[in-house]
Amino acid sequence: MKERPRHPFVPARRQDTVRQELTALLREGSLTAKELSGMVGISEKEVLEHLEHLRIALHGRLDMTPPRCLECGFSFQKRERLKKPGRCPVCRGERIVEPSFTIG
Ligand SMILES: [Zn+2]
Repeated sequence: MKERPRHPFVPARRQDTVRQELTALLREGSLTAKELSGMVGISEKEVLEHLEHLRIALHGRLDMTPPRCLECGFSFQKRERLKKPGRCPVCRGERIVEPSFTIG
């Protein structure tokens, strides 16, 4: 593992560099936006924005394991959005397993 720089100033990396890093990680295995955020050092919101671009750029080869409700087991199979849903439409439970992503 690389050491994170201690000083607060982090030079902005080019967007395509970040995208290449995300692509490389997703080819290795299935990861959530939260995991990717920690590994690449950008916010979850930014990860999701990059994933939206990658989904288009990769012509559907970005696979999502749909989020799932821990309360009733409902799986969000039809969901198009990449962000974790706030609550379950079936039981209204809020314990939702995050979606994870990989490149097939
Ligand atoms: Zn549920």
